Amino acid sequence: MATRKKCCICGTDVTDLPRFRDDQGNYWCAECTAQDKRARKGVTCPACGRKFMPQEMVRSGGKYLCQACDLVQSSAANAGEARTITARNPRLVPLLSVFLVLLLVFVYVIYSTYYS
Ligand SMILES: [Zn+2]
Ligand SMILES: [Zn+2]
Repeated sequence: MATRKKCCICGTDVTDLPRFRDDQGNYWCAECTAQDKRARKGVTCPACGRKFMPQEMVRSGGKYLCQACDLVQSSAANAGEARTITARNPRLVPLLSVFLVLLLVFVYVIYSTYYS
């Protein structure tokens, strides 16, 4: 009977499972390999796909983002808010100028009626 191959981390029998070998010839199960990768290379930011150390990640809206993406997302949210405000305001500008022109015309008409 062939030697059973065991994961050097968790001891799972990996003989019939996908397994990996490290430089020392030890077997690793897929899960421990993934966990080791995560521990060594950090977590992948879902926004930019880059790897970061877990302590560098920021919780943002139920998911973890890197600090850069968190900044981008929150400033994008702020920009979106600012955009709705500026989108509302420019409409007031022509309205106010029309109102001012009408007022001027009205004043001019009153003025010329009384003083002509
Ligand atoms: Zn394992
Ligand atoms: Zn990111």
